Amino acid sequence: MRLLIYILTSIPITLLVAFTTLTNPISIQGHLVSNDNSERISKVKILVKTDNKIVKTTMTNSYGYFRLKLNPEKSNSFDLYYVDPDFTRDTLFLKSYTNFEISILTDSFSIPTQYIKDEVGNIKCPKCQRTDNVFHIVYGEGIIKRAIVNSDTMWTNIFEEEKIYYASTCIKGLLNYYCTRDKIKF
Ligand SMILES: [Zn+2]
Repeated sequence: MRLLIYILTSIPITLLVAFTTLTNPISIQGHLVSNDNSERISKVKILVKTDNKIVKTTMTNSYGYFRLKLNPEKSNSFDLYYVDPDFTRDTLFLKSYTNFEISILTDSFSIPTQYIKDEVGNIKCPKCQRTDNVFHIVYGEGIIKRAIVNSDTMWTNIFEEEKIYYASTCIKGLLNYYCTRDKIKF
């Protein structure tokens, strides 16, 4: 009987705990660490996107620290980006957050990115963790080609065979790779 009472009372408590951990806001305490002693970590913009829409922005302090509060109730995935202060059109993918069991997440990020390679030296995408769709970004004159997609003619700067993404600018930012699966630069 005592066991039954215990089971009956513990189920709602377990559900309540599970529910609160999923819906409580989470706090991200981030730190950008400069790899090259540049000024690229101080007072820079950090973006959060969900389904490719910006849901939050913040700025780092002079030492590269930033804080963000996110509400998992509205989405189950958040992507964190860094805005290159020298070339603000471009955003550098930092990390995807999909696990919200911990309410305070502490992370540090190298700027420029330190690339992770597989055993044979191919660069891994920081989002899908795969190498097959990672294209090298080539700066310079924007090169485009005609492509047929679903019987429509379009112009693209992505060259599948060579695994090259031609940036339409000669100003080289921090970004060296593009993942065609996730459509992110890093
Ligand atoms: Zn990817």
